[in-house]
Amino acid sequence: MLIIGGGIMGLWAAVKAERLGIDTLLVDADEIGSGASGGLLGALMPHMPDRWSDKKQFQFDALLSLEAEIAALEAETGLSAGYRRCGRLIPLPKPHLRSIAERHQRDALTNWDQGGRQFHWHLLDAPPVTGWVDAAAGEAGFVHDTFAAKVSPRALIAMLKEYLRRAKHVRVVEKCGVATLDANGIASLIDGQRIRFGHAMVCAGHHSFPLLADASGLPSGAKLGVPVKGQAALLQADAHPSMPVVFLSGLYVVPHEDGTVAIGSTSEEDFDDALTTDEKLDVLIAQALQIVPSLGNAAIIERWAGLRPKAIGRDPMVGPHPDHPRVLALTGGFKVSFGLAHRLADAALNALQGKPMNVPVSFSFEDHIRVFNLPN
Ligand SMILES: Cc1cc2nc3c(=O)[nH]c(=O)nc-3n(C[C@H](O)[C@H](O)[C@H](O)COP(=O)(O)OP(=O)(O)OC[C@H]3O[C@@H](n4cnc5c(N)ncnc54)[C@H](O)[C@@H]3O)c2cc1C
Repeated sequence: MLIIGGGIMGLWAAVKAERLGIDTLLVDADEIGSGASGGLLGALMPHMPDRWSDKKQFQFDALLSLEAEIAALEAETGLSAGYRRCGRLIPLPKPHLRSIAERHQRDALTNWDQGGRQFHWHLLDAPPVTGWVDAAAGEAGFVHDTFAAKVSPRALIAMLKEYLRRAKHVRVVEKCGVATLDANGIASLIDGQRIRFGHAMVCAGHHSFPLLADASGLPSGAKLGVPVKGQAALLQADAHPSMPVVFLSGLYVVPHEDGTVAIGSTSEEDFDDALTTDEKLDVLIAQALQIVPSLGNAAIIERWAGLRPKAIGRDPMVGPHPDHPRVLALTGGFKVSFGLAHRLADAALNALQGKPMNVPVSFSFEDHIRVFNLPN
């Protein structure tokens, strides 16, 4: 198997391929983790506990199982991924949000009681911890979600890379970009070389979309997805690592295990420069400082931007091309890749072995591509 791209998707696919004994070459056009996966946040946020669906169930199972997956890799590599189920705190600035939160509190008692674990969507009058979120941020109270977790994106990537360094069946080659993919089993590299593959798993972040469109023979200009820019910052804050992630309308404050705190993220479909940060990030930082005043003294040690892969229809894109089964997609994780990638990799490898993928229908590559096959 050829894996194209060594972000969170490609790395999990390679780790799972190693465990299955599948001979694999993972190539990355740049360095492992140099795409969106090399960012700062690593928030692992569950969907709301209401209106349960197959998508919510898939994400619940993935977020639950990630804990043990990471613990196993930490034991094998001796490295830490900076993972912790630290929970999430959501300030409620408006009174009407309180009745919605009350409903969700009840929903969580049913829908988040699974696999011998009960997680909560507690509605509180004040933050459950001191010295972190300003009590004034939640005029109508706070939600404390006990299911959410966080991981250090770079530490997790480094751990997966270390696991693969010791692998028997997987070889990793950096600075090796795929230019085009022939669905009959040939990948042409940017340097002109060609690689024959039995299966190719396309995990190239937002670059996956043109590669997959080309391999599918779609007309030029057909878009299977788009890049969405995000900006984030890292502060040297000395925050206690057990503090919950803070979330308020798109703003995340993530306290990492080493005391640094990440703030993010913008969401931009129109941008001039993919990798620079600007005043939009300053606005986010100012909002974060209002809600978490103790960050006011913290130095900003990094400003970072990256491009998230958003597939058409917004859901992840996984599995074989319906007409070219040698070509598989494993991409489109958009804002939630870190919580799902290990399970999506299992699904893609299931398909490769002729087994059912067991993902929501709307996640399948086949479902995404159907829109292009409609008769005119
Ligand atoms: C600011 C920001 C904050 C975010 N916060 C979170 C968060 O809190 N939680 C969360 O779960 N997600 C978050 N995300 C989203 C998450 O980072 C992405 O969804 C995820 O990293 C995508 O992983 P990937 O493996 O699909 O792609 P990438 O990480 O982009 O990896 C793709 C890899 O493929 C390589 N590549 C590209 N083209 C080729 C080619 N032609 N040949 C070979 N290799 C190629 C690239 O070099 C790269 O290494 C955030 C994203 C941003 C930008």
